[in-house]
Amino acid sequence: MVSLSMEIELTKTKKQKPAPNELGFGKYYTDHMFMMDYDNPEEGWHNPRIIPYQPISLDPAAKVFHYGQTVFEGMKAYRTSDERILLFRPQKNFKRLNLSNDRIDIPQIDEEFALEALKQLIQIDQDWIPTEKGTSLYIRPFIIATEASLGASTSTSYQFIIILSPVGSYYPEGIKPVRIYVESEYVRAVKGGTGMAKTAGNYASGLKAHSGVAGSGFAQVLWLDGIERKYIEEVGSMNVFFKINGKVVTPALTGSILDGVTRNSILQLLKHWNIPTEERLISIDELYEAYTNGTLEESFGTGTAAVISPIGELQWQDKKMIINEGNTGELSARLYNALTGIQNGEQEDVLDWMVEV
Ligand code: PMP
Repeated sequence: MVSLSMEIELTKTKKQKPAPNELGFGKYYTDHMFMMDYDNPEEGWHNPRIIPYQPISLDPAAKVFHYGQTVFEGMKAYRTSDERILLFRPQKNFKRLNLSNDRIDIPQIDEEFALEALKQLIQIDQDWIPTEKGTSLYIRPFIIATEASLGASTSTSYQFIIILSPVGSYYPEGIKPVRIYVESEYVRAVKGGTGMAKTAGNYASGLKAHSGVAGSGFAQVLWLDGIERKYIEEVGSMNVFFKINGKVVTPALTGSILDGVTRNSILQLLKHWNIPTEERLISIDELYEAYTNGTLEESFGTGTAAVISPIGELQWQDKKMIINEGNTGELSARLYNALTGIQNGEQEDVLDWMVEV
């Protein structure tokens, strides 16, 4: 058991846990949460505590409501069949939280302390980690600007909070390819903007594009670059990969793309398997050409929630690309099985990613 010097207040009324088949994503929260405050640079982050999960009270003028000064992370804990609790590369998430903090002008957190605090919170709420295949405990660390002031300037005070949510299998009926709409009007991010940070505004600005195509059966949009609408960036809130002529290609991290932990892990696994990879600019025209000449073999999105989401169809203006006859590709399935097997402790952790709680 990790032991940090922090106040712990346990709940007196434990909540009823949902049935495994009701879990879904982000619908239920555990009994406790972690909180820490920042009020001035001299004191820094202080008063770390684990308290019963509860609403928070903020002044209506808190800057987070008006100027979106906030960052977040998303990662998962898994319960193995031999009762261990594993986190997947959590150091990378806290490192990325600090990258986001830097971009949004929020004070840096102590990454090691945050990880130890998270472990302690998970230990307290460990009965909430679901055990059925494909399920996990989703972890949402986030920071909000709390200063009550309508001046459009950097906040002087913040709260850092971690909440936990048991989540169901992303693919209860088996992994299934999705239809994607190539978005040529709206953009997600531009170089010099906030695309490489996990901050609320990036997600708010993407909602309308998604709603616009969801009614036509598209699961997500494929984002193109903000200047020429030419280069491929991400798919919904996932990174994107293409297998073209035996090579696995993914857009380079040019500043407007999030450096996904799953993306990085897929690249490492492919290198480990001696499968050629390329991180580079890839235009939608090049992709269409690969499709028409028969070399576009597979495509998939990557992210913490789904791990791998195969793309079966891309609609670009009036052109339709059906990839691998709309089925899950061989490599997509191999990557999905390898990564989820490592995460849930059923396969050897060949690249030393898992951290035991
Ligand atoms: N891009 C965006 C915009 C995202 O929000 C996410 C999810 N965090 C990803 C990519 C995938 O990142 P990860 O693999 O770290 O979940």
